[in-house]
Amino acid sequence: MRTGISVDEALALVLEEAKGELPVEEVPLKEAYGRVLAEDLVSLVNHPDQDDTAVDGYACREEDTLGASPQNPVRLRVIGESPAGRPFAGRVGRGEAVAVYTGAPIPEGADALIRVEDTRREGEYVLLLAPASAKDIRPQGDDLRKGEVYLRRGDLLTPGRLGLAAAMGHPRLKVFRRPRVGILSTGDEVVEPGEPLPYGGVYNSNAYSLLGLVLEAGGEPVLLGKVEDRSDAVLKRLEEAGPLDLLLTSGGVSMGEYDVVRKVLEERGEVLFWKVRQQPGGPLLLARLGELPVLGLPGNPVSSMVTFFLYGRAFLFRLLQRTEPPYRALKARALTPFRGAPGKRVFRRGVLSFEGELVVRSTGNQSSGVLRSMAQGNALVVVPPDQNVAEGEVVEVIPLTFVL
Ligand code: AMP
Ligand code: MG
Repeated sequence: MRTGISVDEALALVLEEAKGELPVEEVPLKEAYGRVLAEDLVSLVNHPDQDDTAVDGYACREEDTLGASPQNPVRLRVIGESPAGRPFAGRVGRGEAVAVYTGAPIPEGADALIRVEDTRREGEYVLLLAPASAKDIRPQGDDLRKGEVYLRRGDLLTPGRLGLAAAMGHPRLKVFRRPRVGILSTGDEVVEPGEPLPYGGVYNSNAYSLLGLVLEAGGEPVLLGKVEDRSDAVLKRLEEAGPLDLLLTSGGVSMGEYDVVRKVLEERGEVLFWKVRQQPGGPLLLARLGELPVLGLPGNPVSSMVTFFLYGRAFLFRLLQRTEPPYRALKARALTPFRGAPGKRVFRRGVLSFEGELVVRSTGNQSSGVLRSMAQGNALVVVPPDQNVAEGEVVEVIPLTFVL
């Protein structure tokens, strides 16, 4: 078992455990939001499927309209109209025009468009106040070319990508099955919300903050409830858990006499590492129980969230073969000081905003028991080992709400 390792070493070891292949399932488009593509998607069509108009106006022949101006309008005879979806059947000849609407194919014989704003209609004629041109013609395949790949295996299906899959002509998509992530809270003092809180009790917040984080990372949370700090209770619950791709436990991985998770995993499984040089979340543990990877998260509410965000999320992204990284760090100017710690990478909670530049402020009390910091904060501020961040310094920040 490794111990006292760096954040980077811990992350590498966690990712090594994410080696399983998730099964692939096919879902209709309307159920594919938030899923991860398991196939490259080629466009089944050109879009537009032929040259069409990007504006409402008239299609005509450019050479008929040269020199048109408000003083010297060019008069064309309107021989028909073509709304989107109803192509014009005839041909545009010399001195003629067809009224066209956005999305309509360019009629045969026409090679130019004039916007309706630059015309005046007079009965069966239209007066052009400017020359027509080809600039508002959208060429066939301008947006999508048939046979080309526009979405890749591992792409998260965002609203734009879902629309794109539909535009390419796909009614159903192959996606990875969501990884099943067990969430087990340990601690004699832990009580489910809704139950009366006994003296010295604490409500089980970890299960629900982790549930949210698992969903955000594309996993399917499997709530395993809470167990007392007894090896047999922990083991029994794990046996009942059913098939999982990852198990998260919270609590019971510190130094104390009652830290049973660590003991159970040492006896029944294989602990790969315990303790990372970071704060919060120092007592993090990685283990294998049979084939099942287990992240033993510390019980403090901030520690369990931060460690899942840094390691669990990365694990799920790897399993899902995600094309985007689990997070992207930014630089921001610190408007409050952030304290570091000797020998440890520290993750403080901050509020990131834009005030002419990216700036970040502390959420206040940074104790790992103060969950409000994760509720009010939107970013982790990374303080390197043995350093402090002074007000006005530029720091690395990791936004907690993820943008592609
Ligand atoms: P532990 O890691 O078990 O030593 O727990 C550290 C701290 O986190 C203690 O104050 C626990 O009461 C608290 N804690 C443990 N599990 C939970 C939980 N599921 N929800 C909220 N707080 C917890
Ligand atoms: Mg405990």
